[in-house]
Amino acid sequence: TASRRLAPALDLDALLQERFGIPSFRPWQREAIDALLGEDRRVLLVAPTGGGKSLCYQLPAVALDGTALVLSPLISLMEDQVRALESRGVPATFFASTLPREEITRRFSALRRGAYKLVYAAPERLAFDGFLEALQASRLSLVAIDEAHCIVQWGHDFRPEYLRIGDALRRLAPSRVLACTATATREARDEIIRRLGWSVPGAEDAPSDLAGPSSQASPATARDAPRIILRGFARPNLHLEVRGVDGPRDAARWTARTLTSALGRPRTPKGAGIVYAATRKGTEKLATALRADGWNAEAYHAGLPPEVRARISTAFADRELHLVVATNAFGMGIDRADVRVVVHAQPPSSIEAYYQEVGRAGRDGLPASGVLLFSPADIALRRRMCQLGPDGGEASPLDAARAWQLFRELLRYVDAWTCRHDFILRYFGDEAESLGGCGHCDVCEALVASTTADPEALERDNDIVRRALAGVARVKGAAGMQLIGSMLVGESNERLRRIGLDKLSTFGVLPARTHAEAMMVLRVLLANGWIDLTDSEYPVPLITPAGWRVMRAEVPTRVRLPLGLSRRAIRPR
Ligand code: ADP
Ligand code: ZN
Repeated sequence: TASRRLAPALDLDALLQERFGIPSFRPWQREAIDALLGEDRRVLLVAPTGGGKSLCYQLPAVALDGTALVLSPLISLMEDQVRALESRGVPATFFASTLPREEITRRFSALRRGAYKLVYAAPERLAFDGFLEALQASRLSLVAIDEAHCIVQWGHDFRPEYLRIGDALRRLAPSRVLACTATATREARDEIIRRLGWSVPGAEDAPSDLAGPSSQASPATARDAPRIILRGFARPNLHLEVRGVDGPRDAARWTARTLTSALGRPRTPKGAGIVYAATRKGTEKLATALRADGWNAEAYHAGLPPEVRARISTAFADRELHLVVATNAFGMGIDRADVRVVVHAQPPSSIEAYYQEVGRAGRDGLPASGVLLFSPADIALRRRMCQLGPDGGEASPLDAARAWQLFRELLRYVDAWTCRHDFILRYFGDEAESLGGCGHCDVCEALVASTTADPEALERDNDIVRRALAGVARVKGAAGMQLIGSMLVGESNERLRRIGLDKLSTFGVLPARTHAEAMMVLRVLLANGWIDLTDSEYPVPLITPAGWRVMRAEVPTRVRLPLGLSRRAIRPR
């Protein structure tokens, strides 16, 4: 709202058009800028790469008095931005250790004079007192932290220098701080917030020890929770699908079928495709099989010589090659807009990895599809991969556990049987863009098809969900999943009788179902976060607050249980 903006006279739209030559804001850009200039002042902006995050600090930097400090990990990135700003008449510069000493001195004195609107630097520069003093002398308008996830210690892009930022913020005490990242998991988000010396919104009073020994922040500062803006993750043109397969041969068959239906004939494909496999050997086998089908396909992985990899990337970018079968080593920097299909012949390591990889399809905004193939054997393979460190050695137990946890989130995605898009947006916390059913993922389509064929199907599935939830609630943690499954279908056995589950009103609430079906329903509850397993030696399910709301029918649920669906749509176990 207008009252929250800093200066009513500030016409941000005019500034956007005149200074940046951009016709209009994306809604979330405006939201982030308003938060930064308004009352919030501390903002964590999470949006996909290429979404336009830099504008959210560049524009305020131009609008405000003083100099903005932008912390960024890569010199090349800084150089590009500085060049672009200068070409628009915005005085900007960067500091890097690669510059000649005299040049650094010259820029220093210009900085002290307040000659720049923006100053870019890598966080290692924060180690120099002279730099911090010069910034203070120039009146800091704001501090922006680009690629803020580099502060996350267990993350892939961790940079130790980023750990300096928390301290520097305390010393500089800028009135506005914007942290930007494309990494959207809650865990990463929370760690960024804590390491910057803020507190996690909603978390109980958490001025944490993570900020390091010198975290002598005042209680008021420690409790400062940033405004989190997490947007732009929805990809409505992507058709998402998960398909259960029966081992590698079946996966190869479905890969070929999926490619044909998305791209047409192998020799004259319409657009490009990327197939991801979990291992190097897997990519080569699949590429060979696809070539035998007539596809012009190349395998791509980190084990190939650099010149081979470069040749493949270039051929793909130049549209001479249309199909690449790759490990996750392929994709960084691949910006081909007409990728029509991304097939995962094996599941990737996490939902984030999946969304990033599948997100390479349909960059042109035209319909594209992502198909995730899943075989029970893949779980064991991934389990072993989690135990390997990045260098091929053994991962630390903590890293292995973390990796496994991330993969289990992906298993939940496979099992949830709710709209695939909504699931992913929920996972990222981007509910604002959730559609309440996208209408065109495999689950939504099954839902529409089955409700058309059988108008009562949705209500019947919801009824099953509510009954199963009531069963879990009634057991109150006294039994594990298997026994609860037996109770729901009314199968009595000795263990069940010993706990007294046969006496509960929820004994046999799903009389027409088999134990296997009841187990599947329970997995759906788990995958949707309606029940949760305890962390104990014998994990037992408990109903969650979200589960209570569903059980009481306080919120609509759109889940399609794969009970009456054709067999091949059901993921084999
Ligand atoms: P990010 O930092 O989120 O990865 P960038 O800030 O580098 O993304 O922006 C990517 C591109 O999008 C840039 O070329 C930028 O000019 C463009 N862009 C940013 N905001 C808008 C907008 N509102 N409308 C059109 N293009 C935009
Ligand atoms: Zn959907």
